[in-house]
Amino acid sequence: MNDHILIVDDDESIKNSMQDFIKSSGYPTLAASSAEEALEIIKSNRVDVIITDIILPNKDGLELTRMVKEGYDIDVIVMTGYSGKYSYGEAINRGASDLVFKPIRFEELLLRMKRVLRERHLNKERVRILGRLEKLAITDGLTKLYNLRHFYSQLEIEIDRCNRYGHSLALLLLDIDHFKIYNDTYGHLEGDQVLIRLGQIIKSCLRTMDSAYRYGGEEFTIILPETTGKEAQVVANRIKTAVELECFLPEPGKIFTITISIGVTEFLKKEPISEFIQRADKAMYKSKDEGRNRITTLYAENAS
Ligand code: GH3
Ligand code: MG
Ligand code: MG
Repeated sequence: MNDHILIVDDDESIKNSMQDFIKSSGYPTLAASSAEEALEIIKSNRVDVIITDIILPNKDGLELTRMVKEGYDIDVIVMTGYSGKYSYGEAINRGASDLVFKPIRFEELLLRMKRVLRERHLNKERVRILGRLEKLAITDGLTKLYNLRHFYSQLEIEIDRCNRYGHSLALLLLDIDHFKIYNDTYGHLEGDQVLIRLGQIIKSCLRTMDSAYRYGGEEFTIILPETTGKEAQVVANRIKTAVELECFLPEPGKIFTITISIGVTEFLKKEPISEFIQRADKAMYKSKDEGRNRITTLYAENAS
């Protein structure tokens, strides 16, 4: 879709002829006679680039530039007839993308506008790609839950918050029971389907502030901020039941259910991160030892 342009100039004839020219070059173009009118227009219209005169009745073009850059993703090209009074640096420092001198040669203005638009598009593409890369770097490829790297960085943030503000913090660790048998019987690809579905089930059982991670092969972990061990047991139970109720169809006519063993623990203020994680691990293995398909909660020995 074509980019939208807004011309701001209090000289009616310049404003109108410039609007006609930019419009005839294929860009939907609006026009305003003051900074105030321009600010009203961008509130309710798509505008990608503003071309504004510096000298305007009340607020000047540089003030308009500053206000636009503060609140909108719009590029601004400023025009000045007084080459001595306003410098290129001043305009750029206020956030302008370019400065052109009057009298304006429309062909030159169009070329400058196209360059600003090209840079604008490249920038948007760069931001989009960076966002995707950032997401990829913290996401587990199979389950689309967060990965182990993100687990450690988020847990550190939550622990820091706990130590500072004294909130409670709980951790769940869960592992599929006898998953090797499922893989050996139906193959790794079917096993992968179970992991994907389990990731979805876990997510569906959490609040927005909770976060789920693939900890290892068939192990998952969940960080529950502002949650006590007791409250985390409720979440663990919800997940355990949802998993038990889920039917997998690894082969036509074959219905298979799985179970999970869960370890639950609560953070003890100031304890090392490794002790917190190890306790969740110990709790999970206790669930395994005691027969699997169960939840074990362990607290730090000196917890009150
Ligand atoms: P337990 O109840 O003691 O946890 O038994 P288990 O069989 O689940 O545990 P074990 O540690 O012996 O085996 C884990 C299995 O998980 C082995 C492997 O086949 C499977 N696994 C690990 N990562 C993946 C994966 O990415 N995809 C698939 N399909 N299977 C995986
Ligand atoms: Mg297992
Ligand atoms: Mg395991």
